[in-house]
Amino acid sequence: MQDNRIRKLVIVGGGTAGWMAAAALRRHFQGGPLEITLVESSEIGTIGVGEATIPTIRGFYQRLGLSDIEVMRATGATCKLGIRFNGWAGEGQSFIHPFGLFGQDLRGIPFHHYWRKLAQAGEPTDIADYSLGASLAAAGKFMAPPRNPASSLSIFDWALHFDASLFAQLMRRVAEDNGVRRIDAKVTKVNLRPEDGFVASLDLHTGETLEGDLFIDCSGFRGLLIEEALRTGYESWSDVLFCDRAYAVQSEGVGDPMPYTDVTAQSAGWRWRIPLQHRYGNGYVYSSRHVSDEDALAELKAAVPDPPLHEPRQIRFNPGRRKQAWNKNVIALGLASGFLEPLESTSIALIETGVEKIKALFPDKDFAPELVDEFNDWSKREMERVRDFIILHYWANKRGDTAFWRDCNTITLPDTLQRKVELFRQRGHFVRYRWEMFQPASWMAIYAGFGLLPEMVDPALDGIDPKTLSAPLAEMRKAVREVVAAAPPHGAFLEEYCRPVPIAAQ
Ligand SMILES: Cc1cc2nc3c(=O)[nH]c(=O)nc-3n(C[C@H](O)[C@H](O)[C@H](O)COP(=O)(O)OP(=O)(O)OC[C@H]3O[C@@H](n4cnc5c(N)ncnc54)[C@H](O)[C@@H]3O)c2cc1C
Repeated sequence: MQDNRIRKLVIVGGGTAGWMAAAALRRHFQGGPLEITLVESSEIGTIGVGEATIPTIRGFYQRLGLSDIEVMRATGATCKLGIRFNGWAGEGQSFIHPFGLFGQDLRGIPFHHYWRKLAQAGEPTDIADYSLGASLAAAGKFMAPPRNPASSLSIFDWALHFDASLFAQLMRRVAEDNGVRRIDAKVTKVNLRPEDGFVASLDLHTGETLEGDLFIDCSGFRGLLIEEALRTGYESWSDVLFCDRAYAVQSEGVGDPMPYTDVTAQSAGWRWRIPLQHRYGNGYVYSSRHVSDEDALAELKAAVPDPPLHEPRQIRFNPGRRKQAWNKNVIALGLASGFLEPLESTSIALIETGVEKIKALFPDKDFAPELVDEFNDWSKREMERVRDFIILHYWANKRGDTAFWRDCNTITLPDTLQRKVELFRQRGHFVRYRWEMFQPASWMAIYAGFGLLPEMVDPALDGIDPKTLSAPLAEMRKAVREVVAAAPPHGAFLEEYCRPVPIAAQ
């Protein structure tokens, strides 16, 4: 019988996507005959942003045999308990989207119904006071979550802010140590097979030709294989997500690093501030339909509180997704597969899930159409779910001070999101579709942050006298406060465990 297995896997691009894929797939197929080659151009370089993650990143590198502390030391990382949204729900207002739960469900009824019932009876409380993750973040403190949480009150998770180029270097080291071959060269031509249009090989500027059975396109926005060679097509979501440009700048960093990403509303978008151990990352993500480049640049410069380390760099993007993440024998990962925007730090997480999909549906040389369809169906749904979550932040904003924010209030919601919002508003119910990246607690954080609260409390609580809820809910808030009081400041945690060790010295 003919051996139809994929033998030569070629990854194009050595940014975060390329090296994550190389490290994870090399490990997954260890000991087998699959050869993995990564070609990248140090002359072209990488996008150089992508510093905030969500907790799944920790599972990703742990599966590669790396511990939190190793990764934090190698990448100058800080801890991220969530995201703080400043000014989105009105000037001077802030709320935190933590990676964790709010309160304790009782008798199988979600906590937020009890919280609302107490509020409707005249005792409004801040939902963040029932979340250890949000409360630690607000206090600038950090501790690792307990291994055996006493109750859902102490369930929270955390992610990292890291230096993107140091993280790619770390992934490269893991990949190369395990046998990935790296070629530093520019791909100058993609050669297609005349009979079926599959990619046969890549011409490099060095004169070498690189053949492959399967190609993973991690070449960034341009999509060298998936778009420039295969003309796969792109679905733009710029009608519902207005931001399409960013200025990014690194700064020296002042004070203790906060254990969260700061995202602050600006006149036509928002500004990120991400603490690392050795510097801060800053950027202004904006809509070119609502502000000029010059004004956006000036707004960013005026807002960064510490000395910049270089002139801000502009990045342009088109929010949306590649129509097929997998086309013929090319699978796109990272920016080559599409990009929403960095508001909820989902891009690296989508690389992680993309790698998992490749593992699960790894083809042979027949490239069964069913595998390709399944991959594309998962990818589409997952991107749409993330898109909906991000749209919610804009649509629900309570600013109204500029055309940008007013236009956001009038976005026509996709049906999938409309249904979610309606069911939550009417009944406090969370609609769940397949391939959701964000759990109900995350949706709760955003709904509550914008004051989008259910009109109705679960009727199963009709028999409860709201006065009887006052004491147990106060107990929950007290329990959270006590843990926060005993936790160390984030800076002290980093000092004790995570002083950076430069890659070269390891
Ligand atoms: C403003 C902004 C902020 C972001 N912030 C976050 C964030 O906080 N969190 C998050 O998860 N994500 C974020 N992202 C997304 C994140 O940056 C990317 O998902 C991540 O860096 C992966 O990029 P990549 O590897 O796909 O592409 P790139 O980093 O662009 O890498 C492309 C690679 O392809 C190579 N290449 C290109 N052409 C050729 C050629 N002809 N020959 C050989 N090699 C070639 C390049 O040399 C490079 O190695 C952000 C994105 C933007 C635009």
